[in-house]
Amino acid sequence: MNILVINCGSSSLKFQLINAESEKLIAKGLCERIGIDGSKLTYAPSGGAKEETLAPMENHTDAIRLVLDALTNEKTGVVKSLEEIGAVGHRIVHGGEKFAVSTLINEEVLAAITECNDLAPLHNPANLIGIHACKELMPHTPMVAVFDTAFHQTMPEKAYMYGLPYEYYEKYKIRRYGFHGTSHSYVSKKAAEVLGKNYEDLKIIVCHLGNGASVSAVQNGKCMDTSMGLTPLEGLIMGTRSGDIDPAIIEFLAHKENKTIDEVMAVLNKKSGVLGLSDNLSSDFRDLEAGYHEGNPRAVNTMETFAYRVAKYIGAYTAAMNGVDVICFTAGVGENSNFIRTMICDHYLGYLGVKLDEEANSKRGEDIVISTPESSTTVMVIPTNEELAIARETYRLTK
Ligand code: AMP
Repeated sequence: MNILVINCGSSSLKFQLINAESEKLIAKGLCERIGIDGSKLTYAPSGGAKEETLAPMENHTDAIRLVLDALTNEKTGVVKSLEEIGAVGHRIVHGGEKFAVSTLINEEVLAAITECNDLAPLHNPANLIGIHACKELMPHTPMVAVFDTAFHQTMPEKAYMYGLPYEYYEKYKIRRYGFHGTSHSYVSKKAAEVLGKNYEDLKIIVCHLGNGASVSAVQNGKCMDTSMGLTPLEGLIMGTRSGDIDPAIIEFLAHKENKTIDEVMAVLNKKSGVLGLSDNLSSDFRDLEAGYHEGNPRAVNTMETFAYRVAKYIGAYTAAMNGVDVICFTAGVGENSNFIRTMICDHYLGYLGVKLDEEANSKRGEDIVISTPESSTTVMVIPTNEELAIARETYRLTK
């Protein structure tokens, strides 16, 4: 069965067509600038040439129509007709407390996802638009919702409650939810599989370090804690998001800079993180790493501050689980930057007996143990694959 995986943003849409049995990628691509001038479809069939087409897309239905046309195109398409797409898997950012697992989409589920819009106002409405557009164009194809928050629903209350008046939890469901759950689940399971160990017997810390970044503590196959909170703003220092700050800074900044709450939040989401900390050098770790090696003091301090925050979370989650067997690095920075991995492990994880294998740590693109056999804690790089995880869930629920 072929599964179409859709990840819909407010003005973009990423897609992959995956064969569920062989788990092979058939085609992938991206629609950009939906609803804005200059919309573009990028389509790449596996093993074929990548095509970029400028085409007007007034809305997400137009975008999905173009994607389906590309997939079924007589010359460059990969399927003969839409009949060959057995199901659609949608990435949904926020499932609130309602969804602890993936689910087949029906009217009731759509209403429940809509109820979570308040918790992720930038993401969930866009995800819903993607579902409605697919429903319009493929009304008989089953669809599955896979939630970024679901894996973290096993967290105990002591990990998910904030020190706020309890009535806010009761009234508004203010609590830690966590995100990147599909990645944390995929990577922690894969780590156990690669090590040939029982997932349920391990204490694993997953460091998902990308433009968005989060850490999770996975004990006996269940998420026990994670660094993102009610929204993806909490936790690590990210590309442009601040991560943890003293909440009083918001009021302080609003007064000093004469900004509204919304304006301060835009600073915390879009102008902070390593971009802000490096005095606008870059939000991209490749540039920061280059700056570090050139001796640019803002780049040096930014990289050190980023690594220090990751190391603090590893320490916290080691305490939370009373130990750790495996530390995994994943996502854009975690998978590609041996420099950051070395910085975190060599500077801060000596107390866990971590010893990195330099040669293994210099490799890329594979599931690999990067610690030496003498290392008391195993350190691994596991490239994440959220689309494959979504395809697996969709197949499980529709086959
Ligand atoms: P993601 O959000 O997982 O796609 O990660 C994207 C981020 O990964 C980019 O913004 C870069 O900062 C980072 N990245 C990608 N390749 C490298 C690399 N070779 N070295 C360091 N950072 C990288």
